[in-house]
Amino acid sequence: MAGLIFVGMIFARYMCRMLEEKEVFPLVLLFKHEPLTDFNQPENAAAFEAALGKVRAELGREYPLVINGERIYTDEQLISVNPANKEQVVGKVSKAAKKHIEMAFEGANEAFQTWRKMSPEARANVLFKAAAIARRRKHELSAWLVFDAGKPWSQADGDTAEGIDFLEYYGREMLKLAKGQKMEQRENEHNTYFYQPIGPGVTIPPWNFAFAIVCGTTVAPIVAGNPVLLKPSENTPVIAYKLVEILEEAGLPKGVLQFVPGDPAEIGDYLVDHKETRWINFTGSKATGLRIYERAAKVQKGQQFLKQVVAEMGGKDTIIVDKEADLDLAADAIVHSAFGFSGQKCSACSRVAVHEDVYDEVLEKTIALAQELTIGDPSEKNVYMGAVINQKQYDKITSYIEIGKKEGKLVLGGEADDSKGFFIHPTIFKDVDPKARIMQEEIFGPVVAFTKGKDFDELLDIANNTEYGLTGAVISKNREHLERARYEFHVGNLYFNRGCTAAVVGYQPFGGFKMSGTDSKSGGPDYLKLFMEAKSVSEMF
Ligand code: NAD
Repeated sequence: MAGLIFVGMIFARYMCRMLEEKEVFPLVLLFKHEPLTDFNQPENAAAFEAALGKVRAELGREYPLVINGERIYTDEQLISVNPANKEQVVGKVSKAAKKHIEMAFEGANEAFQTWRKMSPEARANVLFKAAAIARRRKHELSAWLVFDAGKPWSQADGDTAEGIDFLEYYGREMLKLAKGQKMEQRENEHNTYFYQPIGPGVTIPPWNFAFAIVCGTTVAPIVAGNPVLLKPSENTPVIAYKLVEILEEAGLPKGVLQFVPGDPAEIGDYLVDHKETRWINFTGSKATGLRIYERAAKVQKGQQFLKQVVAEMGGKDTIIVDKEADLDLAADAIVHSAFGFSGQKCSACSRVAVHEDVYDEVLEKTIALAQELTIGDPSEKNVYMGAVINQKQYDKITSYIEIGKKEGKLVLGGEADDSKGFFIHPTIFKDVDPKARIMQEEIFGPVVAFTKGKDFDELLDIANNTEYGLTGAVISKNREHLERARYEFHVGNLYFNRGCTAAVVGYQPFGGFKMSGTDSKSGGPDYLKLFMEAKSVSEMF
């Protein structure tokens, strides 16, 4: 009997939820994340090789700025090269100057007058259509990521899938927000509360999720009703142009997305300081994020609002391995979190704090797994790791490897070669002081440092002792320890018994604490509101 009642309750809850969702989503299905491709299946590998071939045949082309729907080619260009083969030019992209930024703001202000009044459903439909187009071109987009950002196949596939997820998810979130919030009502009074767009702003993404983050940080403000000036990273402007093409094909009106790639030293401050910039959606390093945050606070002549700044910045992410833990799972989690995409993720594991009783065993298992990783040019074969993004990052990472040799004991890797591309092998240091530089500073490469602690208190202290607070993981079978970590491990994204990377849109909203940023939680239910203002209207009758 109790069993029947329980099943009945579950069914009733399910039906209520279905009805609720049906009311919210009249036209679209529930959100489900885009599946990843299994490249062990020969047909998938063959399809991807075909996509690489198609893209290879298109390398070296020129790409324009897109302002008010017009293509503008400039003499000065950003040259994107394949990080695994630096002689190979992926594309040449026109560079916006200040006069183009002026044109872009003028057009964006004009477009705002109509786009803001377009129904939320119509705006969301542009995103749903763009998702369908991106899904049809999925392998091609991932192949562009292989060349433009140096991504290995499965990492590129995940990047494209996440971009599709952002389109699908934010479209649905807009449909929910369009209803506003229910307010309390009193006699002879009608209270309403709703969200409206705030105006044109600037999206400034990094290169490491050159489709996903560019897409998410652009389409969220757009679906909320705001025109966007998109300044992609100078490292990966070609794949960003592909997004512009997709959104145009999906029916985005002219002027709603202004594509203004350029040299950040030339137009970065100009975009941030501009009196028409209503908001800035930044993802990138702490140094750039802090600069933007500070500059945006200054009210410019003629500016009639406070600028809204979303700044998602760096990380120094720790995996804790407890005494009572599945040590094979721990090693697997560390290896994939530290070396996936060569550690070039804000969420990458770069420090491991292990209970002293299992320290040697975890280290041994981690080294054994890391030794199996393959490294090479992903545009030629399906390898686990490719090259790091550019010479600057290569030099930075190799200099940290030298620092690491003084601060700890090198137990794996350390080799690097930049003759053809920027290749750095998986590198592990042991016995590093938790306050050492390689334990505190973001390296953004395939380098991980191990340290030990005598009990869970000390492991938690180590995990919390950096200025960052982005992601972290705890590998433990001890329920009490997991529950402590839930509240005492100060990161925006915490994982138990898995690695600390690979957040999924709609499942693990993403954003960091402390110096990792403004905790915007991209891919979550609060995100679109960052680009809207809430209005309260009360009528007496
Ligand atoms: P970056 O700070 O060098 O550049 C980020 C963006 O800012 C680029 O588009 C760049 O052109 C632009 N920029 C640079 N100087 C500027 C200026 N003065 N004014 C305006 N814009 C300017 O970072 P990056 O190397 O592209 O990306 C790597 C960093 O991004 C790492 O620190 C990583 O942790 C971080 N990141 C964070 C997240 C997150 O969600 N927290 C996600 C991905 C990457």
